Amino acid sequence: MSTKIRLKDTIIYQIATNILSHYECPSDCPAHCCKAKTIEMDAIDLKELSNVSKAKTEDLDFRVTNSTTYYSLKNPCPFLSESGKCGAYEYRPTICRIYPFNTSPEPGMFTIDPCKMGIIILCDLYKHMMEIEKESVPEHVYIALKECSDIFERNKGIAYNVTGFGFSIEYLKIFSDYLNSK
Ligand code: SF4
Ligand code: SF4
Repeated sequence: MSTKIRLKDTIIYQIATNILSHYECPSDCPAHCCKAKTIEMDAIDLKELSNVSKAKTEDLDFRVTNSTTYYSLKNPCPFLSESGKCGAYEYRPTICRIYPFNTSPEPGMFTIDPCKMGIIILCDLYKHMMEIEKESVPEHVYIALKECSDIFERNKGIAYNVTGFGFSIEYLKIFSDYLNSK
């Protein structure tokens, strides 16, 4: 029996989905996440997605890490509808459920991409962090966020050369609890 822990079973997933339950994607976003990002999934995610369309899950890239195979759909995602909505919403892969959160190669860390919703979350995060410190967010932080957001939008989420903003799981848990308490 496999003892591998799936992303969906981790605290990371719980925290990210809870935070995201407090936000919505702005309606003017052209779904960069579904057009430009690598949508990587494990075999269970892939099986669930293939319930929607087996044909659309046949053109895949894959990699093997620690004897686990991860699959990725080619861009743009074949499940993205012409209206810009997910055509497999109930069965979408785990990584789609937490975007703009991403796992980080650094243990205990998350990253957040500065897409339209990511920037809103990042601004709230910094405000909350500074409230804890009883200070205001320095202007240069907003300027840096705006620049990153502009780069992200200009490059349609593709040639994005600024890595996502990193936060510890501990801090995001505090922020997640704070959102629940509001
Ligand atoms: S997660 Fe970000 S990139 Fe994806 S649709 Fe929402 S705002 Fe756009
Ligand atoms: S499965 Fe849905 S949410 Fe995920 S990338 Fe494709 S269209 Fe977007």
